[in-house]
Parts: sequence; structure tokens; C-alpha cells
Amino acid sequence: MNTYAYFAERFLQAPTQIFLDTESGDKFSYADVEKETARYANFLIGLGLKTGDRVAVQVEKSPQAVFIYLACLRAGLCYLPLNNAYQQGEIRYFLGDAEPAVAIRSPQNLDWTSPLGKESKVPHVFTMDHNGAGTFAESAKSSSAEFVTSNSKPDDLAVIIYTSGTTGRSKGAMVTHGNLTSNARVLCNAWQITSNDTLIHALPIFHIHGLFVALNTTLLSGAKLIFHQKFDANAVIKALPRATMLMGVPTFYTRLLTEPAFKREACKSMRLFVSGSAPLLLDTFNEFRERTGHTILERYGMSEAGMICSNPFEGERRGGTVGKPLPGVALRIDGGETGGIEIKGANVFSGYWRMPEKTAEEFTADGYFKSGDIGTIDKEGYVSIVGRAKDLIISGGFNIYPKEIELVIDAMPGVIESAVIGLPHPDFGEAVTVAIVRDKKGTAITDVDVINHVKAELANFKVPKSVHFVDELPRNTMGKVQKNILREGFSGLYSIKV
Ligand code: AMP
Repeated sequence: MNTYAYFAERFLQAPTQIFLDTESGDKFSYADVEKETARYANFLIGLGLKTGDRVAVQVEKSPQAVFIYLACLRAGLCYLPLNNAYQQGEIRYFLGDAEPAVAIRSPQNLDWTSPLGKESKVPHVFTMDHNGAGTFAESAKSSSAEFVTSNSKPDDLAVIIYTSGTTGRSKGAMVTHGNLTSNARVLCNAWQITSNDTLIHALPIFHIHGLFVALNTTLLSGAKLIFHQKFDANAVIKALPRATMLMGVPTFYTRLLTEPAFKREACKSMRLFVSGSAPLLLDTFNEFRERTGHTILERYGMSEAGMICSNPFEGERRGGTVGKPLPGVALRIDGGETGGIEIKGANVFSGYWRMPEKTAEEFTADGYFKSGDIGTIDKEGYVSIVGRAKDLIISGGFNIYPKEIELVIDAMPGVIESAVIGLPHPDFGEAVTVAIVRDKKGTAITDVDVINHVKAELANFKVPKSVHFVDELPRNTMGKVQKNILREGFSGLYSIKV
């Protein structure tokens, strides 16, 4: 069934119920959702878009941006969210690879969106600002507020989420309508979400956490969102008395704990705090329980598989673990006690966009997806993530693949080679750090040169927090750079600010 139709069948039973409440006091009911998404869907179809055509969206968070996502689902189009921090080099790749029929961008980026759009042959380019205004909303304004939702099947493509690739090439994870509906249903049951819930939504909506986990569960249960444009600890504390749930990355929780106003009293109406996207430190888990009396529920998921594991709503939530596989998810560990996590279920994506060989490589012969995470399962079935197979760095909840940054730095004149690692950081979880071997000839590049170069090419969260110049990179006999040696050598040095 079409994901939107699946949600609407339930939420339209109470059309006057509020779906979304913004910081500035704008409110949107479920009837508004139905009307606004119809307008957008009619407009997109009117442009000549066909089932499966991509709609690339890189805009600030707004209710209207949520409606674009839902309109795409409704019209059977493929929604393609892009991180706001992505810069020209990244956008060029995504537009070239995904060949969207429509690109919707923030107006401040338009100066280079237009030439880029032409170069990538994107037929329709629109703008949308942080208030949801711009050429897209303006053009769709007079479209009809009634639309017959497309008859999508479970295997039909709903969304492409780009995950960064270890080889520097991002892969587009193809997420289907069946993936979205099954995961939303499972989560609503597991976390007992109902129309009485009010969720504080302070996550970005270009990533599965804020987009699928938070929005889809709300829509399916007919619940309400308190919609924050970005995470601000004080704004969240102020909203807590009106809310019942918060979903966050671990950084949300460490930041909340630094606020003296964040006390047991402030959390009186809350029934659930969920954490995911990166490991929650045991210290944070314990301190949070002491301070508020609430036990954070940690869960584990990824773009390719939605939510995979969750600590129980009822029953013991164990710090340092991500809980048990969710109903309908088969999970096994490859290669003994500690090994690669492999998963199978209705939640698992259909493959990487235009990469059949890569897709085949990532699945076992009996149909399990190789997650790339290393984990263990204890006797009671609780899963712990112990490492990341591919040296992924997670900083502030964002995934960063070292290779992509290394390629950008290696391309600088004066650089021989580089190795990017993540070092523990109290606020961000991990801090991007780079070791560089410089060319001895000519003017030596400085750390500021490196930072400025990466800043111009890549999103800010990928810019190294510290730069170290070394004579050579440590290598094993197979010629592989030993990043563990670099991590040990530089640990504690992340704080150099450039
Ligand atoms: P993404 O596709 O951006 O959602 O990133 C997925 C990756 O984030 C997973 O493969 C894990 O490596 C990591 N991840 C997600 N949730 C957790 C968690 N609770 N603990 C540790 N790592 C996590």
C-alpha cells in the first residue's frame, strides 16, 4: 500500500487534530496535511513527472518541506532529501547520479544552483526558504487541494537516501513504500505511540531519524509534533511540559544535561526519551536517569534498514546496548561472538541506486544485508555495537566517511597523502582529525590552508577539528594505513581549534 495512504487512512479519522505546531505558533491540522500535500502532488504531476521520478530537496526545515516529502509519497514520486550542509562538489555528484526531474533548494544557494541545475540537466529548479516560501510554494499555490493518492505497491521506490561511500562515492539507498510502512507500524507498537502523544521534533528532516522515525510514527498514530527548526536545549526544556516524547541523537542528551534548568520537574509530562544514530555513552545514560528519573531508550538503525533494534518500552533498558531486534527483523552475527551484524526483514532496503554489483556484494547468498557494523548479542538477546567495520566517523550524529575527506585533501598541491580518523570528543562524540604528509618542495601548506580548502568543498561537519603534519603514515606489511596507531598517537589532541 502507498505509505501516505496507509498513514492517511488512520489520521483522517480525526482530521481536526493538530499534526504540527511550530515555534512561531503556526498550527497545521491533519486536514491541512491532506490539502497541502494534494496541492504539491498535483503541481508535481502537472509538471509531467512520472512514477519513480526523483525530486531532490535541499531546504531548511519547515512544515512545507515536510509536505513535499509527503506529496512525493502520495504521488508515487521518489523523494530525495539532501543534507543542508552539502556543498557544490557533493550536490554536483548527487544531481548527476540521481538525475532528478525536480530540484528544490534554499534561495541563498540559487546563485550556483542554476548553473549546476543546467549542467546536470535538471528540468525544473525551485526555491523554498526556512518559512516554506519561495518559487515552489508560489507555483503550487493555485493547484487543486484534492488528489487521488497513487496506488503504490510495497516494492515501489519511495525515497533515495544517500549514504557516504568508503571509496568516496556516495551510494543511494533505495527505500520502498513497504520498508516505510512496516517500520512505522513496528515502532508505533514497540514504543506504544498513540494519538495522545506529543513529540518534540528537533532533528533534521534530511536523515532517517527525523524523517522516518519521528515523522512516520507520528503520522501513523495521528499524534502531534512540536516542531523546532533546530535543536536548542533551552527551547526543548521550555517545550517539555507540553510534550510526551523526545527523539534525539546522543548530543541532545549531553547538551540537555549541561543545563541546570533540566530537572525531574521539567520532565513530568514526558513518557519516553529515545536516542539513536550514534552510540550513547554509558555516563550519559546513567546521569540522565539520576537527574530525571527517566531511562533513555536506545535504538539502532541505518538508512538501508530503518530501525533494526530497540531497547524495550516495558522491561529492562540496558545502557551500552541497543536492545533486541525489533519484531520482524532477523539479526545474526557473522563470524562468532563478535562480528559483522547481518539483517533480514521487511525493513531492509531494495538496493543501491544504479549499483547492482555493490548491492549484490552487500547481501549474503541467503538474503541477509551486511550492515557493516560489528556487534555482539548477549544471552538475553541484547545487541551491542562494538565498532564500525569501515572506520566510519560519527560526529554530532552525522556519519562521516574518512575517504571522502582524504580525497579532497590529497588533491591539494603540496599534499602527498592524508589519513582521516575520528577521535573521542565530549560534545560531538567524535571529532574529525587528519594526519597529512606534506611535499617537502615549495611553500609548505598550513593547517589553515587545509581547513579553508575542505570548507569550500565539503559540508562543515566534515571539516577537520585538528590537522597534524607527519613525516609518514604508519602502514602494515600489506601497505594498509594503520589508523588505530594514528588514533592512539593523537588521542586527546582534538581540541586544537582552527
Ligand atoms: P545512518 O545510515 O546515517 O542512519 O547511519 C547508520 C549507522 O549509524 C549505523 O550503521 C551505525 O554504525 C550507527 N548507529 C546508529 N544507531 C546507533 C546506536 N544506537 N549505537 C551505535 N551506532 C549507531
